Amino acid sequence: MSIDVNRIREDFPILKEEMNGHPLVYLDSGATTLKPQKVIDAVNNYNTKTTSNVHRGVYQLSNDATELYEGAREKVRQLINAKTASEIVFTKGATHSLNLVAQSFGLYHLKAGDEIIVSELEHHSSFLPWQHVARVTGAVLKFIPLDATGHITVDNFKKVLSEKTKVVAINYVSNVMGYESPIKEITALAHEVGAIVSVDAAQAVPHMKIDVQDLDCDFLSFSAHKMCGPTGVGVLYGKYDLLNSLEPIEFGGEMIDIVGETTSTWKDAPYRFEAGTPVIAGAIGLGAAIDYLQSIGFDAIAQHELELREYAVSKLDELGGITIFNRDAKTGIISFNIDGVHPHDAATIYDTEGICVRAGHHCAQPLMGWLCQPATLRASFYLYNTKEEVDAFIEATRKGKEFFDGVFF
Ligand code: PMP
Repeated sequence: MSIDVNRIREDFPILKEEMNGHPLVYLDSGATTLKPQKVIDAVNNYNTKTTSNVHRGVYQLSNDATELYEGAREKVRQLINAKTASEIVFTKGATHSLNLVAQSFGLYHLKAGDEIIVSELEHHSSFLPWQHVARVTGAVLKFIPLDATGHITVDNFKKVLSEKTKVVAINYVSNVMGYESPIKEITALAHEVGAIVSVDAAQAVPHMKIDVQDLDCDFLSFSAHKMCGPTGVGVLYGKYDLLNSLEPIEFGGEMIDIVGETTSTWKDAPYRFEAGTPVIAGAIGLGAAIDYLQSIGFDAIAQHELELREYAVSKLDELGGITIFNRDAKTGIISFNIDGVHPHDAATIYDTEGICVRAGHHCAQPLMGWLCQPATLRASFYLYNTKEEVDAFIEATRKGKEFFDGVFF
């Protein structure tokens, strides 16, 4: 099972661009992905041919837009194998989805002394909404300690799980380490004590087949822009009865049932969480991105990323003087530093060579503390990257090492 990467690259117009006089080498798909023409066309078509608001028109154009918007919801349902499309809420992105769970569930259902479990591997968007809930409610935030290699393990999860646990908020794949968390096992254990599980799947859904019924998680969040879709749109999946029992966090048009001067009632999920004009063009773009990724196949994409990762790791090892922080990851993320070179200085060298890599704390400061690093470099691969691009990346790394050796030592 392999993908025809040269053919795939034809689908991404931006890959014809140059950066600083070099062909663009985009190795930052963990931050956001490039967009294929089909997604660009889907958004453009809505804007040029089907523009109208959804759910409110009694005219054909609005019905067409509604069909496209609700069609995208059904595509998401099928992508993650939710039971019904009513379990799919369109949001502004993973951050919005994760905050929605924390505020709708956490602020209403937690009290002083209840416990919320997160991990040291969380992205700020996964963990800060619960830090806020803990501050407001008096609930206690507990961290799953990482094992010696930075993994979340079931054994370490058991050390923090208790009868007081009400929420487990955990990433499926870490945006820094690229490790996959044992979500299914953790969810089963959490349910035994009556806790709910909210999964941050921002780095998982773009890269692997997800089955929310098999995982049995209560909530799952992700963003369209990390899976070839547009920015500004994301998804919150929630088990229907639980989702439908939650209070909205935003109030306004279209989410209401009956409005009175002093009290009002809300529509059923998902609409009670989609106040105002929803992310119509974005959702339609996400639907096109799902079609696109499925036409290539998630297993083939994952295998391609892994092959590039292994090739890059072996080449970095050949260079020497590189610390790799996630040596045994099985996804397309490499977190590393060039010994003796600050990651931001290194990123500048990559940039002059037309290579986009990320440098920083990756919105995961607790993990940077665990790694004892102020920042790391991160290269992340996706379906459109090639071995030749890895070679260019390695050559830039070599130049960076040489340059900074000359300057500082
Ligand atoms: N969780 C993880 C693991 C992420 O990598 C990101 C994006 N870097 C987010 C959450 C937040 O996603 P967004 O910025 O699209 O809301």
